[in-house]
Amino acid sequence: SDSPRGDDCIFCRIVAGDIPSRKVYEDESVYAFQDAHPKAKVHVLVVPRNHYANVAELAKAEPQTLAHIVEVAQSIADEEFNGAYRLIFNSGEDAGQSVFHVHAHVLTGEVLPE
Ligand code: 5GP
Ligand code: ZN
Repeated sequence: SDSPRGDDCIFCRIVAGDIPSRKVYEDESVYAFQDAHPKAKVHVLVVPRNHYANVAELAKAEPQTLAHIVEVAQSIADEEFNGAYRLIFNSGEDAGQSVFHVHAHVLTGEVLPE
């Protein structure tokens, strides 16, 4: 992909610690932090440390990391709520994607509206 990375990608900069974030979890392959504009009581973004523009690119290059993101989402929901959560990947500008470093939205912490 020709999408920006490194210094030009805001989530690469957050993963690197160059831009502050409210960290929820991290390990060797992913970094999780609170969304700046939460759309639920708990709204966490889980991103791979490595830069991929969207979830399809991540699935192709690092399927194990995609599976791991699901595990991390479940762990957050187990800790913050009753294990229930909504997991969203916006893919493409017309679907609402605004940051082109793949990120899972984990919405939990309360009963979610439709
Ligand atoms: P998208 O629209 O690409 O699916 O989601 C991007 C998300 O990133 C939005 O929910 C937005 O609030 C969040 N976001 C954008 N910039 C920052 C930032 O600098 N810090 C944090 N914590 N969240 C951000
Ligand atoms: Zn990036």
